Amino acid sequence: MELSHIEHLGIAVKSLEEAIPYYENILGLKCYAIEEVADQKVKTAFFKVGQTKIELLESTSPEGTIASFIEKRGEGIHHIAFAVKDGVQNALTEVEGKGVRLIDKAPRKGAEGLNIAFLHPKSTQGVLTELCENPNE
Ligand code: ZN
Repeated sequence: MELSHIEHLGIAVKSLEEAIPYYENILGLKCYAIEEVADQKVKTAFFKVGQTKIELLESTSPEGTIASFIEKRGEGIHHIAFAVKDGVQNALTEVEGKGVRLIDKAPRKGAEGLNIAFLHPKSTQGVLTELCENPNE
């Protein structure tokens, strides 16, 4: 598999409303989109640093994965997302063949219309890893 860049970092926050001013007023970034991804039970806020995005994640449900992550580990970095060059499905097939445990057996739609899939942190030294591709590029 060939990665082109770090597409985004996912950061779990209790409240977008409380977190966004830090990124805007202290770091000087601009929130350019807020999007709810219903099937992941999250509301996301996006910032850009060079080619890489920061994706803040607020849970929309106490049963959501972000809510349980914050309960166990507190706010902080939740996942790293790499952009893959030859398609998420190809990458999944390749790493599964190398014994990596997958959370998603097939790509699904994430925020911003990306095709995404997650690798299991048990196979990635504890870092929840997302592979993604922009189908419009
Ligand atoms: Zn992500």
